[in-house]
Amino acid sequence: MSEVEGTIGIEAGIVTLEDLRREGRLPPPEVLERGVALPIIDCLEDIPCTPCRDVCPTGAITMKTMINRPEINWDACTGCTLCAQACPGLAINIVNYHFGRRSLRRPGYEEYALVMLPYELTPIPKRGEVVRVFDRAGRQLGEAEVFSVMKSPKFGTVMVGVLVPQSIAFEVKGVEVKRRWPGRRGGAP
Ligand code: SF4
Ligand code: SF4
Repeated sequence: MSEVEGTIGIEAGIVTLEDLRREGRLPPPEVLERGVALPIIDCLEDIPCTPCRDVCPTGAITMKTMINRPEINWDACTGCTLCAQACPGLAINIVNYHFGRRSLRRPGYEEYALVMLPYELTPIPKRGEVVRVFDRAGRQLGEAEVFSVMKSPKFGTVMVGVLVPQSIAFEVKGVEVKRRWPGRRGGAP
């Protein structure tokens, strides 16, 4: 892990859970217990970018200066998801860790989380569809049901919500549709 002044060293260019933990980007258990959606901000470099901070209605995201990386105050976050919708770098996931137990109430899903990811590819997954889910290194973690698809009315960002076991809720960083391409054998290229 190399450290560059003003920048968090990110091994092999990939953010790790340890990087997030060290930066206070993983919500502590008592915050997760609130049962609300929370932003996981993968942005660990000092860059001149402020939409997440500017859009936050409660001031939960701050920056020392406009060129510093964001900091999150869990006590002020209401889980509105606006920061994820506004981020031009698709750097913010939204995790509702206790969604299965608190909100879904579907037998067998008590230890499932809802993870909402900004998505800019086509085709856009549909609700109920099963998609592949990947970690930050591009490794497939498994498959997951699409529970929600929402297009931000203000920013146009599509947010895809997948149900995943809590054990991988903070690792999921990407989804891929499994839909077959018309006229092709063997599925998508
Ligand atoms: S989810 Fe909403 S309240 Fe929480 S940090 Fe993001 S914009 Fe602010
Ligand atoms: S909007 Fe996104 S890329 Fe910009 S500082 Fe916030 S998290 Fe980082």
